Amino acid sequence: MYRSGVVMAWNVFKFCTALRGLGSIMILLVLGVVGVTYYAVVLCNYGPALTAGGFDSLVAVLILIVFHALLAMLLWSYFSVVFTDPGGVPPNYRPLIDQERGEMDPLEASESVPLATPDSTHTRIRYCRKCNQLKPPRCHHCSVCGRCVLKMDHHCVWVVNCVGALNYKYFLLFLFYTFLETTVVTAALLPRFIVFFSDEEIPGSPSTLATTFFAFVLNLAFALSVFGFLIMHISLVAANTTTIEAYEKKTTARWRYDLGRKRNFEQVFGTVKSYWFIPAYSDEDLRRMPALQGLEYPTKPDFDTQEF
Ligand SMILES: [Zn+2]
Ligand SMILES: [Zn+2]
Repeated sequence: MYRSGVVMAWNVFKFCTALRGLGSIMILLVLGVVGVTYYAVVLCNYGPALTAGGFDSLVAVLILIVFHALLAMLLWSYFSVVFTDPGGVPPNYRPLIDQERGEMDPLEASESVPLATPDSTHTRIRYCRKCNQLKPPRCHHCSVCGRCVLKMDHHCVWVVNCVGALNYKYFLLFLFYTFLETTVVTAALLPRFIVFFSDEEIPGSPSTLATTFFAFVLNLAFALSVFGFLIMHISLVAANTTTIEAYEKKTTARWRYDLGRKRNFEQVFGTVKSYWFIPAYSDEDLRRMPALQGLEYPTKPDFDTQEF
């Protein structure tokens, strides 16, 4: 029993170390996919097509503009997820406790009172044994990062970071632009791909043709898998749930953070429309929306009488 426990812990530790080691390799892999695609679309196909003249040139200009614009947004979102701290618990964090309702400060409560005291909103004040600190609502411990992460969604190997309160929007935009870009590339390379299976004579060197073929298959695969992931996250945002909470709340029908679709969306993307499609928040939203700091979240009116 004890032995198997030790082996298990050791295996999990090995797994987490492996994920951490994978870090920079995953960034290189993403940049590799971008590089191969860029080579196939710009250098092998649509760059040369610019000089073809007539309608072909016009199509090439349009495709190159859309391709570069989406690529810029994709990379901006990607590096925003990679370099933005998802949010950690501040040192000496204490949950907000309403004194008027006669609740006890969990740290001052005597030992006979369990630490998990239900508060006014029926949430339990949770404690992380690994970090030795109280957990804010919606916070989870990440075993890969080795710390508690605010509104943790999941640990993402593609971005070598946890996805949490402060970078979830950037992650969603990365998914969104990746889906658009890979779809555009798949559509743009499709005519070139079909030529492989026709009797027509194919222009271009063998390396050009091989890269085009490879880039088409790669982008089609990414477009399909990212589409599924995007649909899943759209439904999570609409319900104001994280991936972790979606697994946990299976037993509860009513969800305390569900404020209705529009406000749930604003809780992640902010209220200023001009910021919805870029990986940033307006100062206004950062000032007035507590959810963007990751420590407090407004709840349904019938769960909590406090004003948002
Ligand atoms: Zn922790
Ligand atoms: Zn993590």
